[in-house]
Amino acid sequence: MSSPLANIYTRLPVAFTHGQGVWLWDAQGRKYLDALAGIGVSCLGHAHPKLVAAISEQAARVIHTSNIYEVPQQAALAARLAALSGMQEVAFNNSGSEANEAAIKLARYYAYQRGNRHAHIITMDSSWHGRTLATLAATGSDKARKGFEPLPSGFIQVPYNNADAIRAAGEAEPRVAAVLLEVLQGEGGIRPSDIAFLQDVRRLCTERGWLLMIDEVQSGIGRTGKWFAHQWADIVPDVMTLAKGLAGGVPIGAMLAAGPAAGVFTPGSHGTTFGGGPLVCAAGLAVLAALESEHLLDNAHQVGHHLKDRLAAELAGTPGVTDVRGRGLMLGIELARPCGVLVSRALQAGLLINVTRDRVVRLLPPLILSRQEADQIVQILVPLIRQFAAEHP
Ligand SMILES: *Cc1c(COP(=O)(O)O)cnc(C)c1O
Repeated sequence: MSSPLANIYTRLPVAFTHGQGVWLWDAQGRKYLDALAGIGVSCLGHAHPKLVAAISEQAARVIHTSNIYEVPQQAALAARLAALSGMQEVAFNNSGSEANEAAIKLARYYAYQRGNRHAHIITMDSSWHGRTLATLAATGSDKARKGFEPLPSGFIQVPYNNADAIRAAGEAEPRVAAVLLEVLQGEGGIRPSDIAFLQDVRRLCTERGWLLMIDEVQSGIGRTGKWFAHQWADIVPDVMTLAKGLAGGVPIGAMLAAGPAAGVFTPGSHGTTFGGGPLVCAAGLAVLAALESEHLLDNAHQVGHHLKDRLAAELAGTPGVTDVRGRGLMLGIELARPCGVLVSRALQAGLLINVTRDRVVRLLPPLILSRQEADQIVQILVPLIRQFAAEHP
């Protein structure tokens, strides 16, 4: 009998029964080094005692109330995020797409309040912002968009990491209200932007009265070695979105606003049934506390450096390996040809990885990764890549 599960995913033939730290086990008792963390979600690894305790304790008290009432855990998490980011307001929801959807709505409302009834948002080629209709329209992937038109209008796509292209788009279209970008593109193939680009765009947005909206859904919450990747450029966005790592595996999204973006939403502008519930916010607070007390930003920075250096050294001169790049524990190895087969080969070898944009091996391990565990990733992955390269001269 065919499965009643919707045919949305091409799944690898493995199911995990439990995990501990960076390790997962399947039903046959095989052990896997998790260098993907559920696509950058399980930042504390698996079964982290503080996260488990926070979720268990909160579940035993109350899981859900409603945004009709005060939710102290939500207020506390908002206060922590505001302090860490230097931003003023936090609106919670349930996913990265939803957080970006809220950001897009905020940009439109901001424009509307200033008499601009058809706000345009500048977004980047090869970006990824989600799979709802508006976030698909913002996303720079024709493949993801194909067949779902008509999509919401008001998005202008420009080349990534090029401030002049943004400037030119703003001259051509007077109704621009915001710029939306990732500091490092994740799904787009671990493509970092330059610090000078980010600073330039920050100045440009301030000059023009555009909102600078940064999607930190993948790069935020310590992954690159700072709380938020844009902090490497010493800038503060007007809007920032978060999701993946924020609650260590429990579904959450957040949109933060600052400066001109703060105060745009008022009661009735936006809302959610589930967002910011006691359970997820207790989890989020536990994640932030553990990242801090266990110095995991520093760990992501140090171990990420070590891992990137070792991969670059081992793969140097390997024909068919074109780049090793990324920041902290958000790393990509670019090959000259499509290399999706490496995912199942790595699985067979006990390592969980991912390939994005067909040619980029992506590593997003838990931020608790030790040097020894990073070395184990290198030991398993490098021979697989060398072998692949040798098969395809
Ligand atoms: C994953 C991702 C999203 C979408 O998040 P979902 O939770 O899958 O909706 C949006 N932006 C970026 C940068 C992402 O990496």
